[in-house]
Amino acid sequence: MSVRPVLRMGHPILRQKARALQKSEIKSPAFKKLIKDMIETMHKEEGIGIAAPQLGESLRVSVIEFNEDSERYPNMGANGLVVFVNPVIKVLDSKPQGFWEGCLSVPGLRGFVERPRKVEVTYLDEKGEEHTMIAEDFLATVVQHEFDHLDGVLYVDRIQDTKQLAYIDEYQEHILQGEEDQET
Ligand code: ZN
Repeated sequence: MSVRPVLRMGHPILRQKARALQKSEIKSPAFKKLIKDMIETMHKEEGIGIAAPQLGESLRVSVIEFNEDSERYPNMGANGLVVFVNPVIKVLDSKPQGFWEGCLSVPGLRGFVERPRKVEVTYLDEKGEEHTMIAEDFLATVVQHEFDHLDGVLYVDRIQDTKQLAYIDEYQEHILQGEEDQET
């Protein structure tokens, strides 16, 4: 296992559409190592999610660690960690909800993005088994942010009003109110 450098905005891999994994690849030692590296890097960088393209691997895989409400999200497992391979998103409620987002590939900034409030995600786990998850509220934003990475999209592309893009310390001083500040 190793912590890997996170690519930053401007690196072309972050702008590529990543390719889907074959089921046979999911069983490979190289894939297992990639998942471990993603988790270790996410922990080191204190993110709540990371996508393979951020580590320079243009593959449709993302890891999210979301330590809330494990009863509501039973697929999350005890530690709240989920590996999403080849995720497909379907919007269940397109009513927009906005959150201030951050990204390990866009360090130092926060931006306000509106996304659909409820989605369904169909994906394979790290063993190749298929699951479906309904994600609402902040988790809906997290999965949409992560899966955007698999299509070469960054959250800054989705900011409607660039007045709502800020440096973290200014954001924390002037905008943040009682919420936790998190990066994906
Ligand atoms: Zn991100």
